[in-house]
Amino acid sequence: MSQKTILTGIRPTGNLHLGHLFGAVGNWVALQNDYETFIEIADVQALTDHFDDPEMVKENVWELALDLLAIGIDPKKANLFIQSSLSEIAELTVFYSNLVTMARLYRNPTVKTEIAQKKALFGNEGESVTYGFVGYPVSQAADITALDGDLVPVGEDQLPLIEQCREIVRKFNHIYGETLKEPEPLLSNTPRIKGLDGQAKMGKSLGNAIYLCDSEEVVQKKIMGAITDPSKIKKDDQANPDICMVYYYHKLIKNPNLKTVCEECKKGKRGCVACKKELIMRMNEFLKDFREKRKYYEEHPQEVKEILEEGTKQAKEKAKKTLRRVKDALKIDYFEEKC
Ligand code: ATP
Ligand code: MG
Repeated sequence: MSQKTILTGIRPTGNLHLGHLFGAVGNWVALQNDYETFIEIADVQALTDHFDDPEMVKENVWELALDLLAIGIDPKKANLFIQSSLSEIAELTVFYSNLVTMARLYRNPTVKTEIAQKKALFGNEGESVTYGFVGYPVSQAADITALDGDLVPVGEDQLPLIEQCREIVRKFNHIYGETLKEPEPLLSNTPRIKGLDGQAKMGKSLGNAIYLCDSEEVVQKKIMGAITDPSKIKKDDQANPDICMVYYYHKLIKNPNLKTVCEECKKGKRGCVACKKELIMRMNEFLKDFREKRKYYEEHPQEVKEILEEGTKQAKEKAKKTLRRVKDALKIDYFEEKC
């Protein structure tokens, strides 16, 4: 049986945070050992809602490459590539757009949530939601199918986008004949990590994240501001750890002292400040290895550039083959030899 392929991606809109690590990226590090792996830095998708800030997107392509390598993506096992360098993806997006209705795109729960967030930030939806943004699930279907992805390891928020991709694949194959592979999502054990503010999702665009590259001082400041049980006023009040973000992160990074943290909190024997201080210490310990590896890559930019170039080259080779098949199926192979 031939080896299965993994295709996944991340938008260069900021650095990696704990949500990425526990929700998706940690899984990629494990999976790269057993699958042909492609990891896309989705700069075209980032431009759909950051088209007015190309410098930010470009800078974050580099930042993300450093973060991903530091967290353990191994260029000998995984191909790290930049979306915009694969013009094949843009071509596939155009062909797939005919297979999706506007109503279906607006019904996509992830798109719906993101439009609501934009409305809250910018007011009038008409001013902030572009054709490119509403259509990004189509472009994401092109990403996945271009690389013939069997499995797409993602966080929970991405499930509706993969379902959308599966629908496009089925429709394409039904109309034009069996051409594309239908992918399946793959979730981690913790597919949705909450933000420091208690929101359901820690997100780059939500301002509620602990970034893996945050300095010790920044980690300290963020944890000191994390949401705790609001009913606990005094140091010795009893509290409910299940609604405390500080306890939530103690649990996430597997504090060996977790049982004590929980019991002391419930009995009113642990003040929030002391609890936060312990979390700060443990979080900085948890991030130590990452910080060291990141420093290495920061000091070896040529190595990082070569990794990105090679990964992009490998991905492009594969995408070219998919595009040939698709054009063949669409009967627009005027000047090309049949594959
Ligand atoms: P943006 O706000 O720009 O969309 P993001 O933080 O949502 O940024 P993405 O680049 O969209 O990050 O997502 C990359 C991957 O990380 C996806 O698989 C997504 O599901 C996963 N992910 C992001 N945030 C979380 C989270 N809080 N919990 C679990 N998975 C997450
Ligand atoms: Mg996102």
